[in-house]
Amino acid sequence: MSKTVLTDKTVFEITRFTTLDYANNLACILWFSKCNMACQYCYNADIVRGIGRYTNQEILDFLKSRVGKLTGVVLSGGECTLYPHLIELCEEIKELGFKIKIDTNGLRPDVLQELIDFSLVDFIALDYKAPSYKFYEITNNNSNEKFYKTLDMLIDKEFPFEVRTTVHSHLLESKDINQIILDLKERKYRGTYYLQNFLHVENTLGNLDIPSVSIDKKLLLDDIPIEVRN
Ligand code: SF4
Repeated sequence: MSKTVLTDKTVFEITRFTTLDYANNLACILWFSKCNMACQYCYNADIVRGIGRYTNQEILDFLKSRVGKLTGVVLSGGECTLYPHLIELCEEIKELGFKIKIDTNGLRPDVLQELIDFSLVDFIALDYKAPSYKFYEITNNNSNEKFYKTLDMLIDKEFPFEVRTTVHSHLLESKDINQIILDLKERKYRGTYYLQNFLHVENTLGNLDIPSVSIDKKLLLDDIPIEVRN
């Protein structure tokens, strides 16, 4: 990695240890600043609007100290695929022997494809934000075709990944979730579809109120395996 890249500051925060965010791995989480969406329910406003605080050198020094203690590194955010030198950073992380999981909104299919082709990512968690007719309302971004390109690419490659949706009852109703389920079935997604209730915090990007109801699995189609995480 060049010196310039080592001095880049793109990671806003580090979670030093988690057993929850990367299945079967002891991992840390790197929270990348900036995002190409502005989801109403986003509670990471500091990260999305902030600038990175750790240089890549500091990140790599931290990871070197975790060799033999952790098995995986989660790249989350914000949206890590926006970082122009993500490939080089992942190469460095891989050279230290870690597995890499990427949390993504799927709007940069070409970056994800490159990471997969170079074996620089081991697992992807893909957010399916909303059916196409609600995509802009929820994310403030109208590039949903790019999201579908990522989804189809991961399905075609049979890459290890999961699809997940955060549900706030003021934004998504059961009929909307059923629309996603039908779309996943039609696209031949073979994994489990994970749903997670929005956990109320005060400062979301869209200043949302407390949701009035939680996910009710009885109202959902059973065409594909579904799991509610909270
Ligand atoms: S919830 Fe939306 S705005 Fe927040 S980090 Fe994820 S994709 Fe970006």
